[in-house]
Amino acid sequence: MISINWKRLLDQKGVEYIERGSSVVKGNIAVHCPFCGNADGGHHMGINLTNSYWGCWRNRQHRGKSPVRLLMALLKINYESARDIAGLDDSFVDPDGYEAMKHNMFQSHDNDAVEKENKTLEFPKEFEAITHGRIRHSRFMNYLERRGFPRSHAEEVCRVFKFKAAVTGTFKDRVIMPYYMDGKLVTWTGRAIAETQMRYMDLSIEESIIPPKNTFYNFNATRRPNKVLLVAEGPFDAVTCDFYSAEYGVRCVALSTNSMTDDQTYMLEEVAPNFEQVLIVMDNASSLGIVDSFRMKERLSTIKNIGYTGLPRGYKDFGEMPENAIVKFCKEIVNGL
Ligand SMILES: [Zn+2]
Repeated sequence: MISINWKRLLDQKGVEYIERGSSVVKGNIAVHCPFCGNADGGHHMGINLTNSYWGCWRNRQHRGKSPVRLLMALLKINYESARDIAGLDDSFVDPDGYEAMKHNMFQSHDNDAVEKENKTLEFPKEFEAITHGRIRHSRFMNYLERRGFPRSHAEEVCRVFKFKAAVTGTFKDRVIMPYYMDGKLVTWTGRAIAETQMRYMDLSIEESIIPPKNTFYNFNATRRPNKVLLVAEGPFDAVTCDFYSAEYGVRCVALSTNSMTDDQTYMLEEVAPNFEQVLIVMDNASSLGIVDSFRMKERLSTIKNIGYTGLPRGYKDFGEMPENAIVKFCKEIVNGL
């Protein structure tokens, strides 16, 4: 169990708390709820002094088991700083966050813990390099060019995003887009290079270490502090945007789905402090399911620097936008910070 001297810690940081009152449960103290913000005129966030679990009386969504998450919100600091202040180190597994998920996924719930922990995912033999394979994969390069990348850029995209070409097998005629998390290959999706019903074919949940819908495509873009994080819908949107926007301090990840899973919202909470602003990008074509959901919007409202944006008029998604349009779009966002 995580043992934290909350009273001493809050005293040191100058955070006001109360030890008794009508809303303070025995064994708890209560603070102003940082997620309610101004809406909480009192002390509605209870903190259990024994197990550090916390919860808000005003809003049932404002609760968790991770002291780090609470400290991030209370002190408006990033994950690492909050962990240090709590006196925890690298070995701390955040019970509410990405680390917990990674821990569960990588360590598993069954008896083969050791085997699963060391589980690695490898590309099958039929996945070949697009740019320098044994055979020339011109149809894959042609596809990237049709997506708007000049050939020199297409080669760079393949290198940066570690694309592969599936020449035979289940993923035949798809560009393989791998998902890495902290250097570890966790899954992939295959984008069809010809017209087909199923544009993206994901590696199965069973075969994945972490399935696409439980993480972000281009997750590593979230790991370093930067100006803006954009959350797009499709992996190719993230590639097209991130490839041109990164140098302007704007990074882009994708959901791989048109709604947002719980794991993805937790992950977003965890990485949001790395950015001045996090913007959910709504496709002009199919306004994203994520924001239609009231519950999801409420969940995301706990992220202080979240916002929503559409694309410039005339574009359905990032995939349609040429380099100069993406750069203009990103510069406007950065200038508006
Ligand atoms: Zn609250």
